[in-house]
Order: sequence, then C-alpha cells, then structure tokens
Amino acid sequence: MSRGSADAARVESYLHPMDGVDVRGWPFLRAPLRLRVWVTTAVVGALAVPLLTNELGHGSTSGAPVLTGLLLVLLSIVNVELGRLLEGGASDSQRPHKGLSAWAFASALLLPTPWLLPVVAITYAHAWWRGLRVATWKWIGSAAYVVLAGVAASLVAHRVMADEPDLMHGSGFLGLATVVTAAAAFLGVETLLFHGSAYLNEAGDEGWLRQTLATWSFYLTEAGVLLVGGLSAAIWTGGGWFVVLLAPVYLITQRAALHEPLRERAEYDEKTRALRFESWRRLSVQGAARCARRGQPWCLIFADLDHFKDFNEAWGHLVGDEALALVADAIRAEVRDNDLLGRFGGEEFSVMLPDVTAAEATAIAERIRCRVATTSFPGAGAITISLGVAAVGADEGAVEFVEVLSAADRALFTAKNDGRDRIRTVALDAA
Ligand code: GH3
Ligand code: MG
Ligand code: MG
Repeated sequence: MSRGSADAARVESYLHPMDGVDVRGWPFLRAPLRLRVWVTTAVVGALAVPLLTNELGHGSTSGAPVLTGLLLVLLSIVNVELGRLLEGGASDSQRPHKGLSAWAFASALLLPTPWLLPVVAITYAHAWWRGLRVATWKWIGSAAYVVLAGVAASLVAHRVMADEPDLMHGSGFLGLATVVTAAAAFLGVETLLFHGSAYLNEAGDEGWLRQTLATWSFYLTEAGVLLVGGLSAAIWTGGGWFVVLLAPVYLITQRAALHEPLRERAEYDEKTRALRFESWRRLSVQGAARCARRGQPWCLIFADLDHFKDFNEAWGHLVGDEALALVADAIRAEVRDNDLLGRFGGEEFSVMLPDVTAAEATAIAERIRCRVATTSFPGAGAITISLGVAAVGADEGAVEFVEVLSAADRALFTAKNDGRDRIRTVALDAA
C-alpha cells in the first residue's frame, strides 16, 4: 500500500473508529462460543426467573407499584444526567459509573421481581442513549446480570423481612439488616456473573473489565452504589417524597464514581498505557526505598527509539503513534507485572525493576531490544531501540533516585553514540 493511501485510511479510522472494525456479521457472533453460551443463558434466565419468582419476591411498597417503578426510573435519569453535567457533557465515555445497579437493587427491595425487567431495561436504555458506548451485546449481558442479581437480592429480602412492607418500620433494625444482606447477595451474584463474562472472553477484548474487577475500589464503589439504592428504598417506604432530598447524595456519589477514571487518566498515558512520568517517578521512588529497606538490588532502564523522527517522516505521525503503543506492548511483554513502565516523554520509556541485579536487567534490556527489532510495525517500518541500564547493588543502601535516573540517561547516551540498537549498563558503586 502506498504511504498516501495508508495514511488516508488510518486518518479515516481515527475519525470513525467503528469503521475500522470488521463489521461483517454481528459482533456477538465473533465472541468465543463459551461466552456466547454464558451470555445467552444469562439473558434467557433474566427474562424467565423474575416471572417465575413473582410470588417469592418481596413487594413491599408505598403507593402503587407503577408509581414506585416510575420513581426509580426517574431517579436513574436524574443520576445519569447529573453525571453528564459533571463530566462536562462528554457523550462518548464508557468509564463513569452510572450507578445503574442502585435502581435495580431498590426495585428488588420495593417491588415484585417482574418489575426488575422494565426498571432495568429502561434505565439501561437511557444510559445507553445518553452516551454509554459499549458493545450492544455486552450491555444487554450486563443488564441481564443485574436483573439476576436483583432477583437474588429480592429473595434474600423476602426471607429476612417476610411481609413487613416498611423498611423503616420500628427501630429500623430489621430494615437495615434486610438492606445489608440483600446488597451482599446482589453484589455476590453480580460479581460472579461479571467475572464469568470477563474470563470467558478473549483477554484482549475484556482488558478493562478484568482490570476493573481486580481492584478493591470497584467492589467498594459498587457496594456504595447499592447502599444508596437501599437508602432510597428505605426512605421511599418510610418517608415517601423525602426521597427527593437524596438528590445531593446522588451528586456526591457521581463525583466519587468519577474520581476513579479521572485518577486513571491522570496516572496513565493514553497513547501507550504506560505511567505518566510523574506517577512513574513517585511509584519508582517508593519501590526503590522498599528495595533499600529489604537489602534488594534494583535497576532502571531508560530507552529511546532510534531515528524515530525519520520513521514519522516516512510514515506519518499517526502511524508513529501506533508504533509507540506497540513498543510499549513489547516492553511490557518482557518485564514482570510489578515492574513499572513509564513514558518519560516523546518516544522515551523508563522501567523500574525492583529486586533485579545488573546482569538480569541487562538481559531484560536485551530481550526488549530484540523484541522491538523483530516487531512488525504498521506501514513497512522497522524500528530499533537503544537502552541504558543503571543498576543499584543489594548493599548500596539508599541512593538518590535522581542519581540513578541520570546514570541510566548517560548509559543511554553512550548506547546512542556507540551506534544505536544496543544496550549500555552502568553499576552505581557505593560512595
Ligand atoms: P535518535 O536515534 O537520536 O533518538 O533519533 P530520533 O529521531 O529518535 O531523535 P529524538 O529522540 O530527538 O526525536 C524524537 C522524535 O520522536 C521527535 C518526534 O517526531 C517523535 N515523537 C515524540 N513524541 C511523539 C509522539 O507522541 N508521537 C509520534 N508519532 N512521534 C513522537
Ligand atoms: Mg529517539
Ligand atoms: Mg528522544
């Protein structure tokens, strides 16, 4: 392909990301069979189980069920719209938490189980319409998981509370116990189903979900969201329209939920998914201090692509950006999960390797060099990389981090001067 037409196609795919995707057939059909079975079973279950458990569901309510259902949908709409306002109207982000499980959970506490179907369907459809961009089948799958989690919560609530219709009845203790145990059931079922989805799919397609499910903050946030739903349900049964006074709580919940993606954006460089320099430096300094305390060696690798200006000139900056992401992937593939990969700037990367000797770090750098040299980059470009390694011995004690960084930088400079596509290592001696 000539450079001109390759560039044009790439620019096109940046402007219309979906156009670059293979659109033959429904995306769901390209998912692994095991996952399709999982999602289909969940969807069929979500349509059938609420109807089958109608008699078992709790169904305490203040006012007609239709009014309660409408209220929950309204609260969800207000919540999603507040989130959009806080995001500055961004319409295509999939990260901010829409807090949708709160309303499914409240529905489970307040209404017979079949009500989960319209409440979840409408709240999910609204969030989709207002900018939540995930694959349709994943969205339908998520809605099904939430319905099933809602059924579990409803059955637990029914067992704990029996026929008491008011969650705030008496001292409110029974209501509290109901909300907490039902929330635990909801979270448990939801977690199980989402884990199934994440781990039955190809890793590449569920990177974000797997990463999210591996953090405590997801479960804490989700528990918080469910309890907001539980609180709304309690107030609705005990205090009716007092529920409107919860609006500021929804606002704060949205702010808290927005914090996580913003923090992630602040820490990671979007082009390469490597840590931004400041975060990398902070974490690396902590890692170095830990090594010094434990009497372990540690190393820094500083890497710069060779003649990258020429690569950009030959293939264009958009192709250059893709190449940068591939180089970051190549480095990640050769280091351990607890090594820290940072993007120092432009086309320079830095890696902090705790508990690694000079010889080991040199071998790792050599593997990175080989992997980059043999990666096939977009267009027909080849790229090489030069690396400087600075090693701190086990008995070195505390060394100034910036000193090690400059040593790695000097080693890199030597590697460049010696002809590029090579590694130079310096060991810092005890002063
Ligand atoms: P050397 O072997 O001496 O390192 O040569 P070089 O051309 O790589 O020189 P230098 O490191 O000074 O140049 C860095 C180039 O990297 C300049 C710029 O065009 C390119 N670059 C920096 N950041 C980005 C980026 O985010 N995307 C793209 N596509 N190119 C970048
Ligand atoms: Mg360079
Ligand atoms: Mg450079």
